[in-house]
This record gives sequence, structure tokens and C-alpha cells, in this order.
Amino acid sequence: MLDKNIRKLNKYIKPITKSGIKNFINGREVQAVSRATFENHSPVDGSFIAKVSSSDHRDIDKAAMSSAEAFKAWRNIDHKERKAILNSIADNILKYSEEIALLESFDTGQALRFTKKAAVRGAANFRYFAEKAIDAANGLSTPDTHHVNYTMKQAIGPVGVITPWNTPFMLSTWKIAPALAAGCTVVHKPAEFSPVTAQLLVKIAYEAGLPKGVWNTVHGLGESAGKSLTEHEEIKAVAFVGETTTGMHIMRQGAATLKRVHFELGGKNPVIVFDDADLDRALDAVVFMIYSLNGERCTSSSRLLLHQKVYNKFMKRLEERVKALKIGHPLDSNTEIGPLIHKTHQDKVMSYVDIAKEDGAKILVGGSIPKGKLSNGCYVNPILVDGVDKNMRVGQEEIFGPFLSVIKFKTEEEALEIANSVNYGLTAYIWTNNVGRAQRLARDVDAGMVWINSENVRHLPTPFGGVKYSGIGRDGGEYSFDFYMETKNISVAYGTHTIPKLGKLS
Ligand code: NAD
Repeated sequence: MLDKNIRKLNKYIKPITKSGIKNFINGREVQAVSRATFENHSPVDGSFIAKVSSSDHRDIDKAAMSSAEAFKAWRNIDHKERKAILNSIADNILKYSEEIALLESFDTGQALRFTKKAAVRGAANFRYFAEKAIDAANGLSTPDTHHVNYTMKQAIGPVGVITPWNTPFMLSTWKIAPALAAGCTVVHKPAEFSPVTAQLLVKIAYEAGLPKGVWNTVHGLGESAGKSLTEHEEIKAVAFVGETTTGMHIMRQGAATLKRVHFELGGKNPVIVFDDADLDRALDAVVFMIYSLNGERCTSSSRLLLHQKVYNKFMKRLEERVKALKIGHPLDSNTEIGPLIHKTHQDKVMSYVDIAKEDGAKILVGGSIPKGKLSNGCYVNPILVDGVDKNMRVGQEEIFGPFLSVIKFKTEEEALEIANSVNYGLTAYIWTNNVGRAQRLARDVDAGMVWINSENVRHLPTPFGGVKYSGIGRDGGEYSFDFYMETKNISVAYGTHTIPKLGKLS
């Protein structure tokens, strides 16, 4: 199976290697104005994938001006036509699903069993917002005695979408589909570590009939292309997914042009397991939510808070499961954990093994780099750390890898205090069969999203986002339109009210 997948991958990757990855502006591929490029390599084995355009403010300017021009027509296009185009992008994504999955795995290191779902979720995002496009402008009527007031929503304008390297295909669709449904045009700046499927996605969209300029993709480094995008006058809002510190930079960069921002940032999410929980289901969820997608997911439960009564029993089973995780080539359909995105990230994750030891925690499983065939890639053996105190760095900092820190607790109050002791507040997972306790914790935990007796199961109409250093704003369903649209109030008089008369001789 692996050999067959590699053969298929080679078919898809060869033309990309040959042509390079260029910007896509105003409906066609163009090199960066400076002609500068950077190299993209696979984390699987370090092999060269392609030269990628390294853009600067001149390329961003071209893309932003193209988006501003296209906005004039796209904002007013017949809603049914907009819906039809978004639906045909969804159809087209499914047509390319095999190519998307193989390329995403090779570019990011994420196992095929997960990237296979990237196209399905990407298509679902477009389909969902296609349906909502018709109603996006809907408002409220708030009549007064002498006036009727009504609101309408209108697209804010061209927007910037800046995405990270983890699940890049799905995340890009998650941002771009609602923006287009709202009537915005988009300049997308994908992460420099994962440019491949971003390029495929924009081509798929144009093949599906998107008018030129409605969606422009500009590749490049965060400090140049990304920064210029957040500073451009024509870009009215920036939807950003990435690290907390980058979000802070973007807020500063966008201040001079009063950018509206939506931030989905880091997390250090707790999964709290009580002694009365269904421990079999809890175990499955704990393992899944930190070791799937290589632990490179913002919603991963990277801190396990475990009740002392079940501590030993649960840990024994957890240890067995972590030891049994299948590490390997991401295109092997048996693989559960592939290589991390890049050598720098592999180094970062590995550095926390020493940090954990220095702080007095115990590495129960993993913490080394696999030898042999896998040593050319950015692999790490998945890590389970016991005896963590909430104040240790591995209990506080986002590591963003297959690295689980386990903290013991005695009481509900203590569990809540530990859960809320970090700067982040994206998700929390609570496992208990005590209904009152589940509700109390769900109310009091610092998180934008809480799952009770469940792993993260995404439902598209629900709000997605975090509190504290995990982000600003929500998207999903109607919440996305709150970000990509402005609300306008229109007040119409019945002609019955008294208008104050100034300057009238009595
Ligand atoms: P990153 O912040 O390094 O980069 C994200 C994007 O921002 C990239 O495209 C990068 O080029 C760009 N960028 C960097 N500096 C910039 C600047 N000064 N101005 C404008 N753009 C700039 O993040 P990453 O390492 O690619 O991704 C991992 C991070 O993303 C983790 O912290 C993770 O938790 C977070 N994340 C959050 C969510 C969420 O929903 N909360 C989802 C996925 C990932």
C-alpha cells in the first residue's frame, strides 16, 4: 500500500517540483516581483518539493488591489450565483481529494488516515457556507413609534487570511468559504512550511468558475508577505490562525489601518478525568486528542488532569496505548504518527523532554528520535510525562507535538484551579458522570469551547474560538458573518414625528 501511495504521490508532485509554487493573482500564476524564492522540503525524508515564491509588499499590493477591484462585482453578485460557485468549488475539492490527501501528507508529515478527511471537511465547509450565502445579508427590524429601523449586513471588503502549517488545507477552507459567502474577496497568505495544497486549492476554486481577483494567494515569509498584508490599506480585516505571539505582532501591525482582527491562537487544553467517568471512553479520547495529527493541533488536550483514585489504573493503560502507537511514513495507511512539520519544530518538541526532566517530571514513554529508516525525517517517539506540577513549563507552555503532561488532582476545586492556571483558554474536555459537576466545571473553566464526555467533535454551526491568550472572536455558522460583515442600520420615518425647528422666526 505504501509503495502504491508513493507512486501516486510522485505523479502529483513531479509537475509541482518542475514548475515551482508561484503566487496566484488576478486569476493567474505569477512569480514574485523580486523573483525571489525559498525552498520547500518534505519533513518525511527532507526531499526537495519545490521552489516557492518569496513575496514582499509589492506582491501583496498587486493582490490587494486585484481583490479591491473584484470586490465591486463580487459583493453584489446574485446570491444564487454565489451559492452555485461555492457549491461547485466543493464538488471540485472532492474531485481532487486523493491528490489533496497525498500532497498534504507529504508536505506536512500528517498521516494519510487524517489527511484523507481534509478534502471531505474542506468541501463540507464550502457546501455549508454556500447554503448560508443566501441569508448572509439578513438583518433585524426594530420599529420605534415614528420610525421603522432595519438592519442589513454587508461584506466588509477585501480581507486577509493568514494560515498556519497544521491542517493547512482544512483551515484555509474554514476561513475562506465564509468570507466568500459573505461577499468579501480574499488575499490568502499560507504558511511557508506548507504551501503545496494552498496552491492546489486556489486553482481548484478558479477551475470551478470563481471570477478573477476574488481570491488571490500570495506565498512568502511571515515577516515580509504576512506583515505587508496586515498593513495594507485596502485590506479591511485579517483572519489569522497561528501562534499567540504572532497574533500580538499582527495587532500592532494592523493598528495604523484600524484592522478588524479575528485570532485563533495557541492552547494548553486540559482534559479532566474524574474517578466516576467511563474510563474506557475517556482513555480513547485522551489518546486521540493528543496523539492524532502528531499533536500538532490547537485543540489538542495536552494536559491530562487525572483524579488520584483512578490514577495508577488509568496510567497503566495509557502507558500501554502510547507505547503501541504506530510511527511511520505518513503515506502508510497503518501509520498513526508521522514526522513533525520541520526540523526546527522537532528540535523544539525534543527540547521539552530535557525541560521536563530538569523540572522534576518523569518521562514514562518516548522522548527520543527514532533510529533507522525514519532518522532522515523529523520524527519523534510520542511522549508521555508523569508527575507534572501545574507550574512546570511542560504544564504551562504550548509544545504542539505528541507530548502529554499528566497532573494528579484530588478535588473538583483543585482540578478547576489547575485547569485555569495557564495563559491559554481554547478548549476543555471534562469526563465525569456527575451531571452537576460537569455543568459547574463547564461554566467555570476558562475556555471558549467545552466538551463533556467527548473528544473534539466539530459541528459547523457552533462557535469556534478561545479566551485569554487563545484568541479573539468566534467563527462558525452565523458567527463567521459577524466577522466578515458590517451591520448597517437604516431608519425610515413614518412622517409623523416633530422635527426641531431652528432659525425659524416666531
Ligand atoms: P505562526 O504564528 O508561526 O505562523 C502562522 C502564519 O502567520 C504563517 O502563515 C506565518 O507566515 C504568518 N506570520 C508569521 N509572522 C507574521 C507577521 N509578523 N505578520 C503576519 N503574518 C505572520 O504559527 P505556526 O507555527 O504556523 O502554527 C502553529 C500555531 O498555530 C500554534 O500556536 C497553534 O496553536 C496555532 N493554531 C491555532 C488554532 C486555533 O484555532 N486556535 C488552529 C490551528 C493552529
